[in-house]
Amino acid sequence: MSDPRTRELARGLTVVRERIARACAAAGRVPGEVTLVVVTKTFPVDDVARLAALGVTDVGENRDHEAAAKAQSLAGGGLRWHFVGQLQRNKARSVAAYADVVHSLDRSALVAALDKGAVDAGRRVDVLVQVDLDPTRAGAGRGGARPGEVTSLAAQVGSSSALRLRGVMAVAPRGADPCQAFARLRQVSQELTAAHPQATWISAGMSGDLEAAVAAGATHLRVGSAILGQRPPLQ
Ligand SMILES: *Cc1c(COP(=O)(O)O)cnc(C)c1O
Repeated sequence: MSDPRTRELARGLTVVRERIARACAAAGRVPGEVTLVVVTKTFPVDDVARLAALGVTDVGENRDHEAAAKAQSLAGGGLRWHFVGQLQRNKARSVAAYADVVHSLDRSALVAALDKGAVDAGRRVDVLVQVDLDPTRAGAGRGGARPGEVTSLAAQVGSSSALRLRGVMAVAPRGADPCQAFARLRQVSQELTAAHPQATWISAGMSGDLEAAVAAGATHLRVGSAILGQRPPLQ
């Protein structure tokens, strides 16, 4: 705890955990229902090790190359690795070898690729279907299936060998009201759990909008800069 960076991370964690506790109290929820995934992308593996020492159990990354190296270097450390970035099909095999949870499954071609990677690695991988909540699709290309595509993607994941369907994920569209966006995500989640009762996870909420996500029932928050500080631009 003596190094200054560890103290800085500890302060960031405290602030974020307090925000989560307040948001849960306001929503009549208990903090134990909400998993904090600390998004460590662009930050060095030493920061991930410091976070683990501070009690963080779940970390998120968005690029395969960086994530694979960090996961390998901290293998056996008991961390759960969440892949939250846009996933290319040719990276699915690599991701399936270390990711415990993939938040960004958004198209059919990824199901078979991830499943094969998981089978070959002898692992099971938890999967969330990423939903594009922008009705104008202005951010199309940034990832996410249309809400109407979730049912069929879920069915494909459900009939895979090594993927476990856990729920849905979304990023609030730029400029949108996050409360409205996450209320829509909650609707999509309810439609999903009607067919897949175990797929109850809702991954929503980042540094700027985690309160809105907790209010809308998020089970997983993906928080980076509020804990680690500003990322360098152009990452
Ligand atoms: C980077 C990232 C986050 C964390 O964003 P912050 O604003 O730094 O909290 C969350 N989700 C995804 C998909 C990300 O790429």
